[in-house]
Amino acid sequence: MRSGVKQMACPLCGRAGLLNCHGLVYGNGAAGDSRVLRGGRFLCSPRRKGDSGCGHSFTLWLAGCLPRHSVGTKGLWRFLRHYHSGLSVSAAWEKARTGFSIESAYRWVRRMYEIQSRLRARLCRVRAPPPGTDAKNPLSEVLEHWFNALGEDDPIRSFHLRFQTDLL
Ligand SMILES: [Zn+2]
Repeated sequence: MRSGVKQMACPLCGRAGLLNCHGLVYGNGAAGDSRVLRGGRFLCSPRRKGDSGCGHSFTLWLAGCLPRHSVGTKGLWRFLRHYHSGLSVSAAWEKARTGFSIESAYRWVRRMYEIQSRLRARLCRVRAPPPGTDAKNPLSEVLEHWFNALGEDDPIRSFHLRFQTDLL
């Protein structure tokens, strides 16, 4: 990610070609996997001949990571799929085997409810929502819409790539 970012425009001032990577960001992975690359810190270089940047630094996250959350997009989606199929939070958590605690699973669900209207609005820009489903739980419609719109492989990662914003 160091090289790909070189020509990118700074998200703060919009000038391109001035970003320097000054450190990678690691976070906790699932149990037994203590250091996972999650993104990098970048500086929009203020000292450069000719053009100069705004001097702000910021973090870019890898699309398979969720900023402020240790779980990866694949693990979270595996859990959400089970939850979508009508299981309780604890049953879905057990099946998904994400390596994270049950408390994490409750936190993910709470967060999904908080963001669902924002999420729905984004998905509508990709594809119209599916016709009324026999919703097994209130999040079901959004999840169905989600993998209809962005595919079933790793739709959270697809969401990050498509909208260039983090989900949670
Ligand atoms: Zn800048």
